[in-house]
Amino acid sequence: MRHVAVIGSGPAGYYSAEALQKQFGDDVRVDVIDRMPVPYGLIRFGVAPDHQSIKAVSRRYEKVALSDNVRFCGNVLVGRDVTVPELLELYDAVILATGAPNDRPLGIPGDDLPGVIGSAAFVGWYNGHPEFAGLDPPLDVAAAAVIGNGNVALDVARILAKTPHEFVGSDIVAHAFGALGNSAIRRIHVLGRRGPHQIAMTPKELGELGHLEDAVPEVDLEDFPPALDDALLEPGQRKSVTYLREFASLTPDKARTIVFDFFARPLRIEGEGRAERLIVEKTRLDDRGAAVGTGETYAVECGLVVSCIGYKTPPIEGVPYEEDRGRFANSGGVIEAGPNGGLYCVGWARRGPSGTIGTNRPDGYEVAEKIAADLAAVGGRKSGRAGLDTLLDSRGVELVTFRDWQRIEAAEAARARAGSPREKFVAIEEMLGARGR
Ligand code: NAP
Repeated sequence: MRHVAVIGSGPAGYYSAEALQKQFGDDVRVDVIDRMPVPYGLIRFGVAPDHQSIKAVSRRYEKVALSDNVRFCGNVLVGRDVTVPELLELYDAVILATGAPNDRPLGIPGDDLPGVIGSAAFVGWYNGHPEFAGLDPPLDVAAAAVIGNGNVALDVARILAKTPHEFVGSDIVAHAFGALGNSAIRRIHVLGRRGPHQIAMTPKELGELGHLEDAVPEVDLEDFPPALDDALLEPGQRKSVTYLREFASLTPDKARTIVFDFFARPLRIEGEGRAERLIVEKTRLDDRGAAVGTGETYAVECGLVVSCIGYKTPPIEGVPYEEDRGRFANSGGVIEAGPNGGLYCVGWARRGPSGTIGTNRPDGYEVAEKIAADLAAVGGRKSGRAGLDTLLDSRGVELVTFRDWQRIEAAEAARARAGSPREKFVAIEEMLGARGR
């Protein structure tokens, strides 16, 4: 019997568990460990609440979670309740699927002012992450600046722009739904340090901005290269740029405007005791496509700044880490393979924060194959889940099972407002209480 611990129950974690099942069949026991009492990581706390079709992938992970040889171990924090070296003693292989939940710092003067928020915190706030429930972002201001030209910037801009009616069918949490419903924000600037051809936004997500109930996107065609140059783009990017060009013909006849500021590099944030304006420098592209400052600056008046410039994996003591890339040091997902148990990583903890949810699937399959090769000569000597239970018991850690999660999920569905699939519990104690034990 092979015993494998997967740390993290998001997409990368469950794709790995699925791959291990396919690789080893009945000859494997997989424990999927998560610090939260609820599973699915990014699906619950990262994917936008109005993108329910994306969140539906959790049904695939549920199928894996419900099989006999996979177990969910929630409410267990690696580093506090159990260490990686201890897990390596207990399991034949340990896979880090811890994602990239920390913001990359903006690193400009004024980024510590109240009203300047990283996307991990802002997204965590509207998605009911227990750490960010009390964020209370300033929405009593006329304008917000969203820094970055990726899909997270689009998520944040769209959530700020939507009417309460547009959240019907979503699972946005009550505190965010109420606050956004009373928001005074009318202008949302989306700032890219490069141009329309360099955006990291995907067409479907960008196209949504053209169909909002009470907000209209605004672009300046002066920022665009000649239309003929679009032919040089790969098809997805060309479609995105076509949407952007189409935004130029929309009539600004709605209460809110989403303004695309291209070639705009944030220099500093100013304000008396809180963010009041963002000073940006106009840029141009050098011959390698990088943004270089032109020396020309202007101010964007805004009381809320959300930086959406990428994420980092939190380091774990003793695990080799690449500081500049914000991920574990690894070679094709292998951190350290050895006869006494191997350490692997998958998903954003392996590659950094890139790609869609499905991009994490091949990672899991590749690592399962590597584990099979590394374990060819060993395996069967570790105590696995029995050993973990003994250790956690001795430390008074209360493990949350998948059955517990199903009760929590049912309780969330039972208290949902009309049209919403669930009303999420936000505090850990509420989640634990809803297990009904
Ligand atoms: P991303 O796609 O890497 O975009 C980051 C953006 O931040 C880029 O436009 C980048 O500009 C900019 N940036 C980086 N450092 C900056 C700085 N110091 N100052 C100004 N701008 C800076 O990252 P993301 O938006 O966080 O998304 C992460 C991953 O999740 C992506 O793969 C994304 O597609 C995915 N995602 C998908 C969905 C969806 O499918 N619905 C939703 C959300 C996220 P440069 O290009 O100039 O570096």
